[in-house]
Amino acid sequence: MKIVDAHCHLESPELKDDLHKLLNDAYREGVVKIITSSVIIDEWYISKNISKNFPEVEYTVGVHPWYVKDSHFDIYKKLGEFYTENRDLIAIGEIGLDKKIDSPPFYLQQMIFEEQMKFAVDVNLPVIIHCRGAFNELAESLKKVGMPKRGGIIHAFSGSVDIALTFIKKGISFSMGGALTYKPSNKRIETLKVIYPEHFLLETDSPDIPPVGTEKPNVPANIILNLKGAEAIIGRSAEEIAEVTTKNAERIFNLKI
Ligand SMILES: [Zn+2]
Repeated sequence: MKIVDAHCHLESPELKDDLHKLLNDAYREGVVKIITSSVIIDEWYISKNISKNFPEVEYTVGVHPWYVKDSHFDIYKKLGEFYTENRDLIAIGEIGLDKKIDSPPFYLQQMIFEEQMKFAVDVNLPVIIHCRGAFNELAESLKKVGMPKRGGIIHAFSGSVDIALTFIKKGISFSMGGALTYKPSNKRIETLKVIYPEHFLLETDSPDIPPVGTEKPNVPANIILNLKGAEAIIGRSAEEIAEVTTKNAERIFNLKI
């Protein structure tokens, strides 16, 4: 079985000192590729170095909505400078919008998100989007700045069927992680019916969102639990789900597996 962890944060202080063990544990479970996403500018080169040291790890750069600042007004330029030197990044992310937090203010999140989206559109790199409680605003931003032709994913997706259909039309797929191990709600069951198989990917979001029965920090090896959760909800074999989610990740992120 070949599994891709489409979204995690190996740069995280909780994980970065134990990468050899943590990645070997993941490979033993069938993980063949891991996409790690930085969340602040100071992590961009950490992400790159992890990818350089571990050939199974690919990296993406961006500023997460929780960490946007006024001083990021020139984020488009910063991404451009980094990309000129580092053509090996595979996507822009983690970027997005989060209405479930009070700070940073939402207008600032929107401004910095849209600048990063513009960059992804201009260089045609896929995007990894975080969106909580802001799907309407996300759709508005995409209308305004467009979507890269290469598409992208909304990670830890928890939206409804209607929301999924809206974003599929814009070229977006969806990854899910630990929530697949929770008691499935009707909403999750119905949404999976719509996004599976073509628009569904697996992730862990390590060190966050540990699957049921595990503790923080979450690790990429736990993707096997998320896969089993998906198997129980979707009613297809783990082998089939691994195969289609890996194919989707290969297509969107142009991975060589
Ligand atoms: Zn994340």
